[in-house]
Parts: sequence; structure tokens; C-alpha cells
Amino acid sequence: MLGLIVCLFLIRLVLPSQIDDVTPGIPCEDYLLEKSDVLYVIPLFENKSIAEDREWCEKTLSLDKELAMHGVYHTWKEFDENRDAEYLQRGIEEFEKCFGFAPERFKPSQIIISDSNARLVLNSMELDLRWNQIFHKVYHCNDSGLYPNWLIGIF
Ligand SMILES: [Zn+2]
Repeated sequence: MLGLIVCLFLIRLVLPSQIDDVTPGIPCEDYLLEKSDVLYVIPLFENKSIAEDREWCEKTLSLDKELAMHGVYHTWKEFDENRDAEYLQRGIEEFEKCFGFAPERFKPSQIIISDSNARLVLNSMELDLRWNQIFHKVYHCNDSGLYPNWLIGIF
């Protein structure tokens, strides 16, 4: 058991760290963004497009991190109920308007997604699910994750 924990600790230390819930409507400390290699961005949080906040788009781009998509509106269990291609496309479009390129990776809110939604996402993006959260350090803006950011920082 101890060997497994040490092994996991080392894997999480080496693999790129991530931060979820990056969007203008959620406060996010700069040092957390700095620490992370991949930023998971919510394109339409509270129905407000990231693309409307040019300053935020520029600032986020200037961090020079890998940018991925995290849900479309990020409502509770958003991708547990069936969504169509149009729904997903809405998020992709706002992401693209903001950053100038389409997202290549997707992580659903609460890491919950139905099989048919997963197939839909996989048509255009890679999908990050539960194993991803185990093998990577995943911080959360606003410290809203299952585990607090300070703990993620250590383990
Ligand atoms: Zn989230």
C-alpha cells in the first residue's frame, strides 16, 4: 500500500499539473495559474462568454499554458444528461473566439459524462476523466475542488 502511495506521489510530481474552473466569473489566484501547466477553461460560465472579455483572453493567452475546455456552462452534472453536437459546439466556438484556436482536450464538470456524450466529445477532442484527476495534480480556482489546493500542492 505504501509503495502504491509513493508511486502515485511520484507520478503526480512528474506529470503536468492542471487547474480547473478557469473563467472570468470565478476568482483565480495568479500563483495557482503559474503553477499549472494546463488550464481548463469554462467557455460560458453563468451564460457569459469568455470571448466578451478580451482583456481576460489576452491575459490568459500570455501565460503561455496549454488551454483546454472544461464543460460548456459548467452546470451541475452538465454532461450527465444527453447533449447534442450543437450544444458542445457553442462552447468550442466561444473558446475559439477568445483564444484563436479550437480546444483539443475536454474535461466535463464534476468529471461526470454519459456514454453518448463521451462519444460526442471524442469526435473532436480528447477526454479527461477520473484517472486524469488521480494521476495529475489538479488545482481549482476558488479552491472549490474535492481536495483543497494546499493539499494538492503537497501530494
Ligand atoms: Zn469544474
